[in-house]
Amino acid sequence: MLFLEDSYIKEFNSIITGVIDDKIFLKDTAFYAKSGGQPGDQGTLNIEDKAYQVIETIKYEGKIAHVIQGDINLTIGQKISGKINWAIRYRYMKMHSTMHLLCAILPFYVTGGQIGFEKSRIDFDLGEEKYDIDTLQNQVNNLIIEKHQVSYSWITSEELASQPELVRTLSVKPPNVSGKIRLVKIGSVDLQPCGGTHVKNTEEIGNFHFIKFESKGKKNKRIHFTVNE
Ligand SMILES: [Zn+2]
Repeated sequence: MLFLEDSYIKEFNSIITGVIDDKIFLKDTAFYAKSGGQPGDQGTLNIEDKAYQVIETIKYEGKIAHVIQGDINLTIGQKISGKINWAIRYRYMKMHSTMHLLCAILPFYVTGGQIGFEKSRIDFDLGEEKYDIDTLQNQVNNLIIEKHQVSYSWITSEELASQPELVRTLSVKPPNVSGKIRLVKIGSVDLQPCGGTHVKNTEEIGNFHFIKFESKGKKNKRIHFTVNE
């Protein structure tokens, strides 16, 4: 999971460790596998003289599977060079980072979320709280222009269990890598365990645009939003 250390890796070299039907498994990969409401990456795997299109990246039996379009005639041990579709991934990084900013402003449990290329949505257990849309939009845009740095640290699952207030959602479990979980810190505004991909600085997000609120059940409110250049 090269993206956990550096979400800006666009190209990398690796070795095939497995092939099952239309799925290729690699020793290392920068492809993010669909999880936590963030879609899997697309891109290409170049193997010898052939380019294989990765149409989706998923978790399969606990491993990252690169789903290939077309026939695969490959063997374990072959070298690959991978390239992710950066235009799509970078947009997902902006959308995902924006969700953290919304978490910073709205101190409620997150009950769901889905990142998309055009727009995204995140659900909060807002209860009876009411929020003014213009205020919310200004608050997020203020956090963007305050240029908060995004940084990472790792804690043990025991340390996380002793700080349950860090966990903002019970619907997504961040990946446990050798007993450790990654914390994502956005300046002084947000700190939570997360295995997704984020921008380095909030200013990269551009402009937050609130689309609408939607009621989902008695307590849950869904926020639809997008980001623009
Ligand atoms: Zn995140």
